[in-house]
Amino acid sequence: MDKLQIKELLNGQKFRLTSERESLLDVFASSSSMLTPSQLYELADKHDINIGLTTVYRLLEVLTKVGVATPFLVDGTIFYAYCGCEHHHHFVCLSCHRVMDIQGSCPSFDVPDNFRVSSHRSDLYGTCSDCQTANDAGCTH
Ligand SMILES: [Zn+2]
Ligand SMILES: [Zn+2]
Ligand SMILES: [Zn+2]
Repeated sequence: MDKLQIKELLNGQKFRLTSERESLLDVFASSSSMLTPSQLYELADKHDINIGLTTVYRLLEVLTKVGVATPFLVDGTIFYAYCGCEHHHHFVCLSCHRVMDIQGSCPSFDVPDNFRVSSHRSDLYGTCSDCQTANDAGCTH
């Protein structure tokens, strides 16, 4: 999905993508890890993007609504990852919070008769290869 498409989607949600907000979106889109709103806020601050925490919350909310951000609930905290494309599944590293898109077909479920499924989520949580190596190296046994 290109920037123009996202811009239009956001406009449809009455969220105008000003240049500061666009920079915020860029920072979010270039992060390989999932972020909490305050982590994104801090990251934006480091990039000298002058934006309030309320706007960060609002952007993430609107992006989620239009399907460009995906929320993940880990230990009671909501993290968000940028997802600029069609339906896919994720691998979430619980150690470094890296989120990777993974390949594979959608799982099948026994849906009760006459129930109409409109969407599903299927994400895997665990430890990425980098974090496993790091853990092994730190092991003194
Ligand atoms: Zn994704
Ligand atoms: Zn990791
Ligand atoms: Zn699926």
